[in-house]
Amino acid sequence: MTDTASEPTFRDVLTQIEAEDRAARVRDVRYTLDIDIQPKASRYRGKATIDFHSAVEGPVFLDFRGRDILRLTVNGVEMEPDRRGYRIYLPEEALGAENTIEIEYENEYDHTGDGFHQFIDPEDGREYLYTNFEPFEAHRLFPCFDQPDIKARYRLTVRAPSEWEVISNSRAMRREPRSDGRTEWEFAETPPFSTYLFALVAGPYRVVRDRHGDLELGLYVRESLLRYLDHDEVFEVTKQGFEFYTDFFGYPFPFDKYDQIFVPEFNAGAMENVGAVTHNEYMVFRDPPTESQRRGRAETILHELAHMWFGNLVTMRWWNDLWLNESFATFMAYLALERATRFKTAWQDFNATIKNWAYRQDQLPTTHPIAGEVRDTEETFLNFDGITYGKGASVLKQLAAYIGLDAFRDGLRQYFRQYEWGNATLRQFLAALETGSGRDLKAWAHLWLETPSLNTVSVDWEADDGQLRRLEVRQSAPPEFPTLRPHRLDIGLFRRTKEGYEVTVLPAEIEGERVEIPEAIGLPKPHFVLPNYNDLAYAKVALDQASLEHVLRHVGDVDDTLSRQLLWSALWNMTRDAQLSPLRFIRLVLDEAAKEPLPELADAILNQGLAALGRYVPDRLRLAEAHRFFERAWEALHEVPPGDPKILWGRALVAAASTPDDLHRLGELADGKHAIEGFTLDQEMRWTLVTKWMAHGLPGAEERLEAELRRDPSDRGQRARLRTLVSRPDAAVKAEAWEKFQGDGYGSLYLTVAAMSGFNWWHQRDLLEPYVERFFEAVRGIFETKTLEYARAYFQQLFPAYRVEDGVAERAKALLAEVPESMPPLRRLLLEAIDEAERALRCRAAAR
Ligand SMILES: [Zn+2]
Repeated sequence: MTDTASEPTFRDVLTQIEAEDRAARVRDVRYTLDIDIQPKASRYRGKATIDFHSAVEGPVFLDFRGRDILRLTVNGVEMEPDRRGYRIYLPEEALGAENTIEIEYENEYDHTGDGFHQFIDPEDGREYLYTNFEPFEAHRLFPCFDQPDIKARYRLTVRAPSEWEVISNSRAMRREPRSDGRTEWEFAETPPFSTYLFALVAGPYRVVRDRHGDLELGLYVRESLLRYLDHDEVFEVTKQGFEFYTDFFGYPFPFDKYDQIFVPEFNAGAMENVGAVTHNEYMVFRDPPTESQRRGRAETILHELAHMWFGNLVTMRWWNDLWLNESFATFMAYLALERATRFKTAWQDFNATIKNWAYRQDQLPTTHPIAGEVRDTEETFLNFDGITYGKGASVLKQLAAYIGLDAFRDGLRQYFRQYEWGNATLRQFLAALETGSGRDLKAWAHLWLETPSLNTVSVDWEADDGQLRRLEVRQSAPPEFPTLRPHRLDIGLFRRTKEGYEVTVLPAEIEGERVEIPEAIGLPKPHFVLPNYNDLAYAKVALDQASLEHVLRHVGDVDDTLSRQLLWSALWNMTRDAQLSPLRFIRLVLDEAAKEPLPELADAILNQGLAALGRYVPDRLRLAEAHRFFERAWEALHEVPPGDPKILWGRALVAAASTPDDLHRLGELADGKHAIEGFTLDQEMRWTLVTKWMAHGLPGAEERLEAELRRDPSDRGQRARLRTLVSRPDAAVKAEAWEKFQGDGYGSLYLTVAAMSGFNWWHQRDLLEPYVERFFEAVRGIFETKTLEYARAYFQQLFPAYRVEDGVAERAKALLAEVPESMPPLRRLLLEAIDEAERALRCRAAAR
């Protein structure tokens, strides 16, 4: 019996087995591409000529997700395309050793941020196009062997409106105006690289040029954003990166120019296309940025630049090594920040952001080993997470410390020479480092790359007569992932004196559950003990009760920035583990954040305080706590110096505003009826204010919306408008928006996500009651019929996370039981949502 209804929907996926098989058949590939662009059209035309050598007899397929194939010839013979799903099968009998395939086709633009994305600027009606392909989307622009280890050379010709810029991976060799108002661009043939690194960007972008030695550098941005682009700083960091990497890698920049393009509606932070990096436009600062935002942008610039060598010159064979690609670029970016730029606190920021991200992700039930199997391209998509980027970078940092940075660098230099223009695996990378350092890294790799999750390290101690009598280091592991690991760490014994804290450092090594540190006996009794002082180990820290009590009173008095940061990180982890009341944590944040001298740390703890307020405070206390937060932020805004502190507290003020009274006060501040010296609400804050006014049904919200749209008619304004309109506490508005979310949304994915983000509000609980069950009924169908990007956004924005209650967690579990193993993305999101709901319930129970 055949039951077609239970057949899975055809998905656009390539498995590792298929890729290995194809890589053995196909080599020496060249794509000659001709792309024809008409202004403001819904479609474009292309012609791809694909030359390749076939090493083994047998059929071969091309990946292709285009619309219509107009003509196909295989070695000069025209034939009917054999299209199955998202593939074109080339018949075995038509292929020889040397092959030429010609395909003429027509395709629609994409509006999801992937493929060939089309964007119309609402401010001036101009049209902008760009591609985004990682991991498996290049075949949306042209038919190809879309896998990282079939590298190819590319020759590109494009016809586009004459007033446009056209940017690709290599230099433009020819620009020829035509009689139809368009210009034909021809680009130099490229060296070999993987399909996911190909780029085509086109539109009336504005360009700023510079050079680094002989190398041409370009920065491109939309016309309407040009006035915000601080190109000096972007070029400065880029050049510092070039200096640092060419020296450290001992290998010159491998490509012929370097452009960076800020593109609209971009899904990620940036993408390292060969010679044509695309950046998310949030890095063009429309509002005054904090130093931490500038540092974040510099990190991204350096991350993408590192990929030109690691990732683009030498590329992973398959997506199971994506983690190495990303971790490496992240680690190198921080190293370059510290060594070559003005952002000298890079490693502290690494601790506050990257390492904390890794810890958080590593505590989820869906954590995974850093190095694992990736069976197909869909699993690749799921693996762009805190383990890939954060934990991977943390353990690479540990590895570089373990073998020494010089040995690490020597190993890398050999790696680039040995595998240039080709592909390599983790094993080959480690072998190069083993040669560089003379050490065997197998045991290290097994322990850190092949086991998931993390350990918690704590210290148990006793003292009398002012002296330590016993001190023991302990480690634990969660029951689901019971691996204990050897850790080498420092224990910091802090004693409070009139001059500040005195620290005695005890080195310790632990392999099993506990180890006594005899050197501690007889030392003066500390006021508190910090495990993992100096941050050498990758492990979560729990403070003992006596230390916790002291730290809660005096954390702000600890002079050493890294220690203070580690203490805050321990306090936040203990809050999330329900070992510390979220109310106490929030009090502490409100008392200390204004005194914190490191803006990045002040930023981090304010955000943690707001996260605790939003998730871990019981409903009955929430408004009072929010009001307290608002009051404190209002006060702090008067006290703190201008610059970053005022921006950070301003953001906190807007985020905390939850009662109608507080929202009115905020409105008066926005309208200039109140003034706080040195502070004005920026446009992003004003938009949040308008959305909240609408969500709370305050009279005058409509007028505010109209006024802000006049101030900010940009794409950002359009997104804020959608979010605000969907926020209105009105059953008809919610019903209409809900229908759109089930269908085609609001045009582009970006606009749809903006609308979704206005749907759920904690205080609209009664109005939203029907949508709890509707979400659980609809979400599986969304994953079966929509793109993964859409489905993931749907889940993240519309899951009723604002209801922290057993019923929601139970309903999610019931759905999980019905979702088949063949749908890992949905299963993963459900597991994480259940875990977060249960964690929030535990934290609320601990709120005292
Ligand atoms: Zn990257």
